[in-house]
Amino acid sequence: MPLPSVIELSSEFIKIPSVSRDSNKAVSDAIQSFFVDNGFEVERLEYIHPEDGQQKVNIIAKKGQGKGGFGFFSHSDTVPGAEDQWAAFEPKVKDSKLFGRGSCDMKGPLAATMLAAAKVDSSSLKKPIYVVATADEEHGFYGVKQVVAESKLFAENWPDMGVVAEPSELVPIYSHKGGYWNIVTAHGVAAHSSTDKGISSNFLIAPFLAEMAELKKRFMTEEQFMDKQFSPATNGFNLTMTDYGCAGNVTASKTTCFANFRSMPGVDNKAVSKLIVDRAKHYGFDVEVQGHEPFYTSPESEVVKLSLEVTGEPKSITVPYGTEALVYGQKVPLVILGPGNIEQAHTVGEWVDLGQLERSVDIYETLIRRHCT
Ligand SMILES: [Zn+2]
Repeated sequence: MPLPSVIELSSEFIKIPSVSRDSNKAVSDAIQSFFVDNGFEVERLEYIHPEDGQQKVNIIAKKGQGKGGFGFFSHSDTVPGAEDQWAAFEPKVKDSKLFGRGSCDMKGPLAATMLAAAKVDSSSLKKPIYVVATADEEHGFYGVKQVVAESKLFAENWPDMGVVAEPSELVPIYSHKGGYWNIVTAHGVAAHSSTDKGISSNFLIAPFLAEMAELKKRFMTEEQFMDKQFSPATNGFNLTMTDYGCAGNVTASKTTCFANFRSMPGVDNKAVSKLIVDRAKHYGFDVEVQGHEPFYTSPESEVVKLSLEVTGEPKSITVPYGTEALVYGQKVPLVILGPGNIEQAHTVGEWVDLGQLERSVDIYETLIRRHCT
């Protein structure tokens, strides 16, 4: 059977909705069929999403034998279609663009990696190729976490290097910011405000909030908190909070504040988090820290150099947005390299440039041939 074009394969996936709040089973079935039809070994991992209760599927495909190799990492879920505003799940080609939900982020790029891997004959491979399509990239990273923790194919062997095929206009990205969530909770006593018997957790947390406002000024002005590899070079420190909808005539019994910042490779992120946590503990609040170190691959590494050669780009860059490279990057040196512009992702009228989409198949195939054959 001849291979479909990248437009045809992308369109097939766009037509099968896989919005993160729903199951991605149907699109995963189509992805799996393609791999089976084209002689890949396929591992299918499933789980039930802890919040929405939906069945989720990760597909990992492998071709070729041996150690190391090359990996391509994508996700099969999308943000909501907003179908009341456009025909999100009816792919359309117009003005050298492919329109549809996921065309850019990232069913188009996923299809390109699948076709590139399918085009390389397994008899020519000295090292294996892996292509992965996860669930829930847009919804908690549960898919990628399962792949890293449970995949038997990866337990046997991780590739030497790989690509996260998120849209980068085909410019290799060597680093992006991560994120730290410092979750601070103050407890008060609920009572009707007419009685003077309550203790408002909002008043309890107020002095801490004032300190956070001062800390924000330091983050914006002191070099130790900045990383000049990025634009902006600052950590995006943000503060949101809830008193869980406390009524105006009741003292709040619980206030939770989320003091979040973006981690960067040139900053001691643990120390930044500690500045926040120590102040919260000083007031006796509960504190929980979650989050990720930034994604960083040395610009001198083999995978960055190879992708610069293959794309013809003069240098690799950084971006402010995050990807699954935060998780895979702990296992394998990666670049982010994909067709399309991130500005198109998540929009009504999402599209991917057809020239870039088609060129990405050639780039991925060349990466495979250079490293694996
Ligand atoms: Zn994406």
